[in-house]
Amino acid sequence: MNTAIDQIRQKIDIVDFIGSYITLKKNGRNFKAVCPFHQEKTPSFVVSPERQIWHCFGGCQAGGDIFGFLMRWENITFYEAAQELARRTGVVLQAGTVPDEHWKKKEHFFTINSLAAQYFQFILNKTKFGEKAKDYLTQRGIKLEIAERFGLGYAPDSWDSLQNFLTKKKYESEDLVTAGLLIKSEKGSYYDRFRGRLIFPLRDSRGNIMGFSARSLDPNEKAAKYINSPETPIYHKRETLFGIDIARDAIKKQKSVVVVEGEFDVIMPYQHGFENFVAIKGTALTREQITLLKRYTERINLALDSDAAGIEAMKRGVSAAEGLDVELSVLLIDGAKDPDEAIRQDLSAFKKTLAKPIPVYDFLISEVQKQYPESTAFNKKKISQEMIPYINMIANPVVQEYYLNKLAQVVNLSEKTLELSLRLFQKTRKVEIPDSSIKEKSSNIPRKSILEKYVISLLLQNDDLSATSNLFFTALSENDFEQPALRKIISLLKEHINDKDKTDINTFINTLPKELQATANELFLYASQDIPSIKSDFQRTIWEIKKINLKEKLKQIATTDSDDQEKNEIEMLKITNELQAVEKTLSTL
Ligand code: ATP
Ligand code: MN
Repeated sequence: MNTAIDQIRQKIDIVDFIGSYITLKKNGRNFKAVCPFHQEKTPSFVVSPERQIWHCFGGCQAGGDIFGFLMRWENITFYEAAQELARRTGVVLQAGTVPDEHWKKKEHFFTINSLAAQYFQFILNKTKFGEKAKDYLTQRGIKLEIAERFGLGYAPDSWDSLQNFLTKKKYESEDLVTAGLLIKSEKGSYYDRFRGRLIFPLRDSRGNIMGFSARSLDPNEKAAKYINSPETPIYHKRETLFGIDIARDAIKKQKSVVVVEGEFDVIMPYQHGFENFVAIKGTALTREQITLLKRYTERINLALDSDAAGIEAMKRGVSAAEGLDVELSVLLIDGAKDPDEAIRQDLSAFKKTLAKPIPVYDFLISEVQKQYPESTAFNKKKISQEMIPYINMIANPVVQEYYLNKLAQVVNLSEKTLELSLRLFQKTRKVEIPDSSIKEKSSNIPRKSILEKYVISLLLQNDDLSATSNLFFTALSENDFEQPALRKIISLLKEHINDKDKTDINTFINTLPKELQATANELFLYASQDIPSIKSDFQRTIWEIKKINLKEKLKQIATTDSDDQEKNEIEMLKITNELQAVEKTLSTL
């Protein structure tokens, strides 16, 4: 046992802790919430104050303790989570107390990237090779001190200069390939990925350099204008927001963030005092990025290009934000292609635009209206058809009602009619929302295995463990369960209860072998979720399991050939009698 980790656990209550990130609602002896880690409407995220654990029974099926929650929330390793919580609680975490191979690997790549960034910066600021890039920045109106604030650099037009620099520092070429800095040719030789380009380091919110993006200085560039690091152990495009480390404090203070497309659309506003900007770098806003931003604010303003692609990106952003309870708005930049250009053209007009975020649903309604301007029956149908899926995504019922009403006015129909369309849409919707990578819980799990978990959960959750286990063991034994882990837990529970007269659930779960503890924790919380197919109480569930098992046995005997027919018949008669008794018991409950 690690004492520092235990001290942290003792100082933080999981309900307070998770409750500071998401809204928890009391539900019996546990707490429930909409899972912050996947897309869902009905809460399947359960937190137990007694066990100091959480579990999601929905799409992600994840669970853990305070450390596990923070790891997921911030997408960090155990070591990083331990460091963070040690800092918050004032517990001293000595070096080496948390051995973490995964973190060591990440740290190795962060170090490589940081050296590469220093190299690029040096070339830009201190050598004649960088002059071309400095001129380019000046020509785009970027001051050098601002470029320095963002850590901009220049990769010289050479096939091996970075490679030489890092090899001298004893880094293996293969590692540099994994980091995305070198490319291995088919012949097996290595060469620099970034050549003759302006370099933007891509940092996480704590300032670690995850990767790079690089812009060509050549207006006639035949290759892409921008190239980025490939996916690496530390660079994941979907989670990257350029400028987040610099913008995070301003985002918190101003209680809103402006999401833009490109690097220059962050740097140029920063130079003019707008510090709460981050860039998604030309892709659609992802759910991962929204989750990151939600740590600092709920108000996300999209300043994306207002061309067709930009509008498509906004729509995808709305889908990605479904159920995350964020306030998405749109900033409409008039007469310029992006914030960088807009600022250079007319700073005061840009300021006005910033002051007028349009809620994304209002924006979508007006866009669809533009698409179908004439007031015909056909157009009305089209407008509502296009809008209903988005209105369906609104988590807050008051806001949803508001937009249903607004849409009703736009298409000149009663709100009742549109409400009906919405319900109909919800009923018939079979397609997944475009951006949801994780599916909602699947409903094809056999009822038997649901009942198995459910009954043990009720058993464990009961205050009077010995009384409920009496009831349980009169009808069932471990052999009635199919899942091996459940069998094991039941037989250990039986021993535990026979052994001691005082039995509380914490001692029981804590004395289980390590590999069963996670299962037991999950089981403990299992009955706190809504399981639509189950409306039974503890006793009914016990007898229902028994009934299913007896029926199964009957079927087995009837379908297997046996030499001893007589023995079979006696056995079948016995089971039939038992089954009748069980059915009788069930009818009296
Ligand atoms: P700049 O301001 O540098 O001239 P831009 O305004 O023309 O670029 P867009 O072409 O609209 O930029 O692209 C927006 C952003 O998308 C860029 O800033 C960059 O982050 C990213 N991007 C553009 N082209 C590519 C590409 N080929 N590969 C990867 N990312 C790209
Ligand atoms: Mn631009």
